[in-house]
Amino acid sequence: MADDAMLKFVARGQEYPAKREAELRAEDFREIADRYAVPEAEAQAGRCSQCGVPYCSVHCPLHNHIPDWLRLTAEGRLREAYALSNSTSTMPEICGRICPQDRLCEGNCVIEFSGHGAVTIGSVEKFITDKAWDEGWVEPVRVGPARGQSVGVIGAGPAGLSAAEYLREMGYDVHVYDRHDRAGGLLTYGIPGFKLEKHIVMRRVARLEEAGIVFHTSFEIGRDATLEELRAKHDTILIATGVYKARGIKAPGVGAAGVVEALDYLTASNRKGFGDAVPAFDDGSLDADGKHVVVIGGGDTAMDCVRTAIRQGAASVKCLYRRDRANMPGSQREVANAEEEGVEFVWLSGPEAFDGTDKVTGVRASKMRLGAPDASGRRAPEVDPGGAFQLKADLVIKALGFEAEDLPRLFGSEGLGVTRWGTLRTDGKTMMTSLDGVFAAGDIVRGASLVVWAIRDGRDVAAHMHAWMRAKARVAA
Ligand SMILES: Cc1cc2nc3c(=O)[nH]c(=O)nc-3n(C[C@H](O)[C@H](O)[C@H](O)COP(=O)(O)OP(=O)(O)OC[C@H]3O[C@@H](n4cnc5c(N)ncnc54)[C@H](O)[C@@H]3O)c2cc1C
Ligand code: SF4
Repeated sequence: MADDAMLKFVARGQEYPAKREAELRAEDFREIADRYAVPEAEAQAGRCSQCGVPYCSVHCPLHNHIPDWLRLTAEGRLREAYALSNSTSTMPEICGRICPQDRLCEGNCVIEFSGHGAVTIGSVEKFITDKAWDEGWVEPVRVGPARGQSVGVIGAGPAGLSAAEYLREMGYDVHVYDRHDRAGGLLTYGIPGFKLEKHIVMRRVARLEEAGIVFHTSFEIGRDATLEELRAKHDTILIATGVYKARGIKAPGVGAAGVVEALDYLTASNRKGFGDAVPAFDDGSLDADGKHVVVIGGGDTAMDCVRTAIRQGAASVKCLYRRDRANMPGSQREVANAEEEGVEFVWLSGPEAFDGTDKVTGVRASKMRLGAPDASGRRAPEVDPGGAFQLKADLVIKALGFEAEDLPRLFGSEGLGVTRWGTLRTDGKTMMTSLDGVFAAGDIVRGASLVVWAIRDGRDVAAHMHAWMRAKARVAA
């Protein structure tokens, strides 16, 4: 009986899958938490209070049917739980791993509000779909009858891949172009394996290839073709290129060797994980082994850099952030993981200059204090006079966030409208850019965001592109 299986949140405590010991996990790039066994997943799902208006679903960008698949899990109906969870998401096992659940579904669970600890929604979601892959329940993409119309998707990140899957299901010919040699976007080359193991991403890509989606990798729009050339080839285009222009630091010595960009560093590390030859890693420039590492920034990217440096065998790893712990953008869960693994956080501190003639040898920094709130409502950091200090460093990683590249110039399409932040301007109702039949989704529209929002955009934009192509086909008939 359903009711017997549910509402166990008072008698049964919250239990996430056990994390491996910090010393052990710092030795490899495997995910840090074990997976639930079947009885644990069922027991944790049974803590759900089955709210009439589930705030978890409301605050999940995909509006996943969370209480329903938790109930199916608690009742041992795992295949049905998987099917339901999969019905609203193209990558549930990926979201289960890397969504900041504390700010989304779990952060809005009523059991959390009542002090009992949220249902471990993300871990159950990951469990259900991993189980489905193990059991062979994950079916091939069901490709609809051919429509004779084709779509070009620029960017094989979560937004592009999700749209490609839905459009292929609708029977379109789908071509995905990406400048990298592997699909997946930041899932493949940004996010490290200890948060998301790469075979999880690659099996999703393989499923799309098996469905007849054609991947054109190492193909850069702007270099290998202009946007206009692509428009001539396809009935409609989706731009899902993400944001890749790294924010800089203006400080003396910032150009010294050994001061590197976060994404270059993370990409090199992820490539080594695939077994690729990476000259800039192999010659030591992007390898933290034996070095004193200072990472500058307080977001998810900075957290990924510090924890990667620990795994590469750094002599010390410090994270310099200009605000305090309570005001950082990165996930508190990731800060706790980093601290357990040996990272030292230097809060309320910002770089002033980088020492070293041929190569960086240290960071001159200043203590900061928080002033009045700025336009965003966050308290603006300002230099605390007299608080200068110095840190030894042989590798400095800049992780200050990303902005949009100048796509109109890169794509040779001056008519492509952008916002004042450089992100693509789209019609709020149709997700179409200023160019007829050219749509956009994911970070290139939102600015740096989250995987789950990219998936949501991919789902929405596929529906808009479908409507547009049907109208086009009707006119042509
Ligand atoms: C280090 C790091 C860690 C993160 N951790 C998390 C996390 O834990 N949880 C979370 O939810 N989010 C995280 N994010 C954010 C998340 O990865 C992004 O929001 C998400 O990947 C955006 O998806 P997207 O499809 O819009 O773009 P992307 O994933 O960036 O994919 C865009 C693709 O377009 C390709 N491309 C770009 N320009 C061209 C061109 N001219 N021609 C052809 N191809 C092109 C790129 O090669 C790339 O493959 C993290 C981001 C970073 C940088
Ligand atoms: S997709 Fe993310 S926010 Fe939605 S239920 Fe899964 S983990 Fe929670």
